[in-house]
Amino acid sequence: MAFKRAGQVTNPWRLFLDLLYPRRCAGCGTEEIGATPFLCWECFQELLPVQPPFCSVCGQPVWGNIDASYICAACSAKTPGYDAAYGCLLYEGLAREMIVSLKYNAATWLVPDLAAILEAGFRARYGDILVDSVAFVPLYHRKLRERGYNQAELLARRLARSLDKDVVSRCLVRKRHTPSQTRLTAAQRATNVEGAFGFRWRRWLEGKRILLIDDVMTTGATVSECARVLKKGGAARVYVLTAARGLR
Ligand SMILES: [Zn+2]
Ligand SMILES: [Zn+2]
Repeated sequence: MAFKRAGQVTNPWRLFLDLLYPRRCAGCGTEEIGATPFLCWECFQELLPVQPPFCSVCGQPVWGNIDASYICAACSAKTPGYDAAYGCLLYEGLAREMIVSLKYNAATWLVPDLAAILEAGFRARYGDILVDSVAFVPLYHRKLRERGYNQAELLARRLARSLDKDVVSRCLVRKRHTPSQTRLTAAQRATNVEGAFGFRWRRWLEGKRILLIDDVMTTGATVSECARVLKKGGAARVYVLTAARGLR
């Protein structure tokens, strides 16, 4: 990852922002920031990137001696709606804390760090794959009003800027509220999101290779359903990229 060690602060706006938002490590609170704008080197090293071997379709890590064409039991039983999925960090420890803070405690200052992780993950996993546009998993409008922001959208916009891609933001819509997936089984999750999404403006999707962003995926039921709908709307390919990966 191309993170630079924090050097001398010379930018007056940086100083101004530091006064307003002291730059402390998001993990341990130290002021010795180093690895990324909001993580010290020690905490940064606690993050666990998902590395091969993993399922070539859904990105679920596996242990053992397997080759790059391995497809897990879940993907063999039912082909997901997307072409491939990859979650950058194991959803544990600090990675989990960062995402929970971003989602429920408005820690939107973590967006640049998580977007940098997404970018590194994108280059590692999808480096040779062409994408045209970036999309994100939408929130139901009532939820969006409540929370004030969609964390997946913030990550997608930041990443799209780094990758120099446009964001197709209103093509995918959430048509109804879906109860939290946390305590549901894989089969229940799939049913939970069935029919929850719709598409608009086919002309923005037609023939496009879409990079679909979310904060975290576990069974992948949500991103799979979103990808299915994007393809129904004309998308040629859908690649999923999430900041974290929960093990199912
Ligand atoms: Zn730290
Ligand atoms: Zn799989």
